[in-house]
Amino acid sequence: MRFEHEGLAQRVLFGSGEAARAVAEEVERLGSRRVMVVAGASERGLAESVTAGVPVVVHHDEVVMHVPVEVAERARAVAAAHDVDAIVCVGGGSTTGLAKAVALTTGLPIVAVPTTYAGSEATNVWGLTEGAKKTTGVDGRVLPRAIVYDASLMLGLPVAMSVASGLNALAHCVDSMWAPRADPIDRALAGEGIRALRIGLPQVVADPRGLEGREYALYGAYLAAVAFASAGSGLHHKICHVLGGRYDLPHAQTHAVVLPHVLAFNVPNAPEAERRIAAAFDAASAVEGLRRLRTELDAPTALRDYGLQEADLPGAVEAILPVVPADNPTPVDPDNLARLLHAAWEGADPR
Ligand code: NAD
Repeated sequence: MRFEHEGLAQRVLFGSGEAARAVAEEVERLGSRRVMVVAGASERGLAESVTAGVPVVVHHDEVVMHVPVEVAERARAVAAAHDVDAIVCVGGGSTTGLAKAVALTTGLPIVAVPTTYAGSEATNVWGLTEGAKKTTGVDGRVLPRAIVYDASLMLGLPVAMSVASGLNALAHCVDSMWAPRADPIDRALAGEGIRALRIGLPQVVADPRGLEGREYALYGAYLAAVAFASAGSGLHHKICHVLGGRYDLPHAQTHAVVLPHVLAFNVPNAPEAERRIAAAFDAASAVEGLRRLRTELDAPTALRDYGLQEADLPGAVEAILPVVPADNPTPVDPDNLARLLHAAWEGADPR
């Protein structure tokens, strides 16, 4: 065995009901006195409770999925106008993404308080959208200095969003088995992430206001993001990235729909990943394990339900092909990619 693995330096505080105390301590640790709170309008209440002990100078609530450039510019202007020295973001991946866009040009430190399972808080990846094109990049300045995980903040995350977001996290784990920089550490984290999500998500569906399922899912989502940050984007993320940016599809739901198709596509040529994923699911095969979980969760099945047109598919194939990782376990060609996308579009059984 021989590998190089780079871990990202950040503090991670995990405790239900402890976000307000933990955020205050992390802001204090940074020595910050002028904090900008970034949280969407619907997460304002959560954000206020979590930042009650923090020297807040401005609340900013213009959060838009995939961070349009003009939205980022306005948030940067607000940060400059209020001379802020730190950002606390409270929300899902879109909110964390906006905080990252501000940090990218200002270097301001971020304390992230995630309220979905998207995992952006644990990566140094930023994303901005201009026109219909989403650009992403890697920059150490956008990595939050600290993450405060508090599962009690997620008790109100609707079940359908919890399922889609949880499967987004699961997709980080699955893609981390074969992504370009995947190493044995990533695969170990991803396997434990799948196990935790497999235990937690059905509990979230059965009892959305129960803490145990929420904690398992959040712990799994963190592991998933750490694995993904190191392993990079595999075929699954490349497909979802293009679809999300070009057709403005909802992020988590797109991941949830595409994942079983990429898994079925790759496992015949990825025997080690197949064994690890099956074991993490405690199932006879990886595909069977994911199918069982998706049935339990009543997961979304078809991209056409989210506005993608059949006529969009040839253009999507064309846009995805050049970004497919060269060493994807199953070689990708225009025909098999078109079949995969069509199956995901119509909601056919993954093969
Ligand atoms: P989101 O942040 O857009 O949130 C989805 C919905 O859930 C919103 O309507 C939001 O108001 C609501 N919501 C969030 N938390 C809630 C709570 N606790 N209770 C009730 N409602 C709540 O969606 P997302 O899937 O979390 O994030 C998607 C974005 O994150 C995409 O733009 C994606 O590209 C980005 N992302 C980036 C990375 C990265 O590493 N840079 C990783 C994952 C996702």
